[in-house]
Amino acid sequence: MQNKEFISKLSTYLKKYNSSLLTNSLNNLEDVSITDNKITLYLSSNYALNILKNNIDELKKISSEILNQSVNVELSFKQSNKNTEIKKQYKEETTNSSLNNGVKQPILTEQNKTDSEKKRDPQIPFLNKIYTLENFIPGDNSKYAYAIARAIAANPASEYNPFLIYSNVGLGKTHLAEAIGNEIVKNLKYKVKYVTCEYFINEYIKSITTKTAEQYKNIYRNVDVLIIDDVQFLEGKTETQNALFNIFNSLKDSNKQMIFTSDRPVSAIKEFLPRLSTRLNSGVVADLQPPSEETKVAILKSKCSQKNIEIDNEILIYISENINSNVRDLEACLNRLIAFAKEMNEPLTLENAKNILKDLIFESKDNSKITLEKIIKTVAEYFNITTSDIKGKKKGNSITTPRHIAFYLSRKLTECSTTEIGINFGNRDHSTILYSVNKIENEIKTDEMLRETIKLLSNTIKSES
Ligand code: ADP
Ligand code: MG
Repeated sequence: MQNKEFISKLSTYLKKYNSSLLTNSLNNLEDVSITDNKITLYLSSNYALNILKNNIDELKKISSEILNQSVNVELSFKQSNKNTEIKKQYKEETTNSSLNNGVKQPILTEQNKTDSEKKRDPQIPFLNKIYTLENFIPGDNSKYAYAIARAIAANPASEYNPFLIYSNVGLGKTHLAEAIGNEIVKNLKYKVKYVTCEYFINEYIKSITTKTAEQYKNIYRNVDVLIIDDVQFLEGKTETQNALFNIFNSLKDSNKQMIFTSDRPVSAIKEFLPRLSTRLNSGVVADLQPPSEETKVAILKSKCSQKNIEIDNEILIYISENINSNVRDLEACLNRLIAFAKEMNEPLTLENAKNILKDLIFESKDNSKITLEKIIKTVAEYFNITTSDIKGKKKGNSITTPRHIAFYLSRKLTECSTTEIGINFGNRDHSTILYSVNKIENEIKTDEMLRETIKLLSNTIKSES
């Protein structure tokens, strides 16, 4: 495949995959080289390189999918040259994005695709068979949601309808929702329709432009089970919300099971029709919390046995103690170790593991060497502004957001009080600092890009102090 064609497909996939983090990082793409089974991506930013390194498995999956064969992805630094053809092309392709491109799709590797899946139109989301109730490990954080899931799988549309699962990212919403669907297909042979919300919206818009809205509604009305993943994307899309409202009523009237997931309580989704919100909340609502240390180890063990690999308990405990964000990040660590175990002829010791995971796990080390100056300098460099911009009084998002992030990191990474931080940041009042720290704290709960940026900055500051 030509580089150009690869770039074009890559940008389409990333849009479908709906990862702003990956898409934004690849804005720094300078060049690509494709050999038989290796793709090398050349990036002009070390920050982007780090983000992509943390998502190397996703990139491998995507690239293998594009090339229809298993490929390795390598990342390399290359000085920026504004006019490389690849860069121009990538930017063009990604900025041509429209709603139609927001479809998030499960990415399957060739190995776990069935024949029918291979023939399926890649634009159509489908139940991913790897998600089962058996391989979902319920902990205190998820046992209620899991119990409801089991009950629905055994007896759809009886007691718990609709079922709404909400949680922060990476805590198992999609896994659980799809697992119910898979179980129902397997045992009851029901017609189950799983769609991502972006796909649902996208198809709705298409049906309006092609005047096939009735047909669209019928597709959704003629199922036994409807699963819509990530309904928070309906925010502000009143017409599509209306369409869902009608579909909901029709399915409810004919006693069909519905399952929805959301990254926040439905009441917290802005510009959302109250009548739809009432409907989605009218059955059972369950949230998923981050797993405890014990559950994390149990999940890792289960993933190891699924992947047919043995990893020492002390290594699994090390990962569990140091990854507190979500299960997806736990898995990312595991995948790194599995790659090492496959490729290297060395035993996987705790020492090796620590080394392999060093850019994913920063052990809580002594932060006493971190200075406010270091934080200000790192944040300023990252956002391409000056240290005086950060300390000064200039307004505008491009300066105030980095400034708030710097306040936040100063509070989290040093022992300085809000008063001391205020003095060092242009003599600001301690209440201003406190307000900004709380603001960022709230925003990172829902803003993945911000959370990743802060993680990256924090890791850079820690490792360079
Ligand atoms: P979400 O939809 O909430 O963002 P996912 O369902 O995509 O999260 O989960 C992310 C990854 O973590 C998936 O690979 C999933 O299999 C795994 N995972 C999450 N929770 C569990 C669990 N309790 N047991 C096993 N795997 C889990
Ligand atoms: Mg999900």
